[in-house]
Amino acid sequence: MTRTRTQVGIVGAGPAGLTLGHLLQLEGIDTVILEDRSRDHIEARIRAGVIEQAIVDLLVEAGAGERLQREGLVHHGIELQFAGERHRIPLSDLAGGRAIVIYGQTEIVKDLIRLRLEAGCPLHFDVEDVSVHGLDTERPLIRYRREGRDEELECEVIAGCDGYHGVCRPSIPAGVLFEFSREYPFGWLGILAEVAPSSDELVYAHHERGFALSSLRSPELSRLYVQCSPDEDLAEWPDERIWDELQTRLGLEGWTLAEGPILERGVTGMRSYVCEPMRYRRLFLAGDAAHIVPPTGAKGLNLALHDVRVLAEALADWSRSGSTAGLDAYSDTCLRRVWQAEHFSWWMTQMLHRPEDHDPFDVRLQLSQLRYVTSSDAAARSLAENYVGLEMV
Ligand SMILES: Cc1cc2nc3c(=O)[nH]c(=O)nc-3n(C[C@H](O)[C@H](O)[C@H](O)COP(=O)(O)OP(=O)(O)OC[C@H]3O[C@@H](n4cnc5c(N)ncnc54)[C@H](O)[C@@H]3O)c2cc1C
Repeated sequence: MTRTRTQVGIVGAGPAGLTLGHLLQLEGIDTVILEDRSRDHIEARIRAGVIEQAIVDLLVEAGAGERLQREGLVHHGIELQFAGERHRIPLSDLAGGRAIVIYGQTEIVKDLIRLRLEAGCPLHFDVEDVSVHGLDTERPLIRYRREGRDEELECEVIAGCDGYHGVCRPSIPAGVLFEFSREYPFGWLGILAEVAPSSDELVYAHHERGFALSSLRSPELSRLYVQCSPDEDLAEWPDERIWDELQTRLGLEGWTLAEGPILERGVTGMRSYVCEPMRYRRLFLAGDAAHIVPPTGAKGLNLALHDVRVLAEALADWSRSGSTAGLDAYSDTCLRRVWQAEHFSWWMTQMLHRPEDHDPFDVRLQLSQLRYVTSSDAAARSLAENYVGLEMV
């Protein structure tokens, strides 16, 4: 067994773990990042792509936003489609000039990995059997196997950035965490297609056959989704059926959806989940390890990066001054934003998705809500503020 030491042991090289490692490196704090998948795997994983202005600013200020600024597509509005019409929500006009940027999570991950490896900071891929120990002590440990050898990493603090299915949260003793969750009776079938997006802005479509979303990753790549069941069998969705369904749900007179080769496809179930607190002694949870939102509000990636910004500042303060005030406030500070995003994501989801039993009463309520959001300045402003990201600590 080889034993090494670090100040902050980070489990998981997703957006949360990599960004935390980068921010702490700028503060002169030692970190080791452990990731149980390969670099190729995490650099190819297609996930989120709508980045809030505040997160763009965070990455740019941290020196990790050069390509994001060059290649990211700034969007100032989104469209809501229902009852055969599209209505634009002018996000920037309604939210103090703030915008969103379209830039794939995968690209953020690639940028952060490159920066970390160039800086010579430890980032170990393909580690096995990761486990955390000694959480009740001043020196918690991470144990894992790397290249066939057992290793032990002694830490001052462990950051659990290992996503919803990671090992950190389940290692917290029973009875410490309160968990809140909601399962939705539907999922999203998502594709990445090699074709220029057919609309300039994202289109969120309410349709009697179910929700659909027209999004993009670049001027050459469309990202499109249809509502499906959470356990939908992809084998039953040949390309033709996917395009037919998208054409039907997104279709409008005088507008057609351009089709192209499908490069990637997958089904994601939808869930809301929060654990409180996001900390147990010297173990801090961040990102999907602590909370999940349905993707309708485009908040998952953004929340993960808000968490690690707060955590990095608290750790830097602790390291400089010895004060634990920031660390003690970490969970409460993050949870205020988390619950705001949970509410917004739930609200967007229930407004836009076909209810399980297609209850006509529920559908009328959805349409009424959509009409209100697209006709009232106050209601549209509320959507816009949440979508671009609320200015809260
Ligand atoms: C399929 C899918 C599609 C999504 N689509 C969207 C979207 O369209 N829009 C949106 O806003 N959000 C989307 N999300 C949510 C968004 O991608 C997440 O909120 C975001 O990835 C959170 O980042 P994270 O770093 O907290 O967690 P993750 O990205 O999950 O990163 C956790 C990392 O930890 C690693 N790990 C796990 N267990 C261990 C272990 N035991 N040891 C070491 N490493 C471990 C994982 O391999 C992973 O690299 C999607 C999520 C999924 C799963």
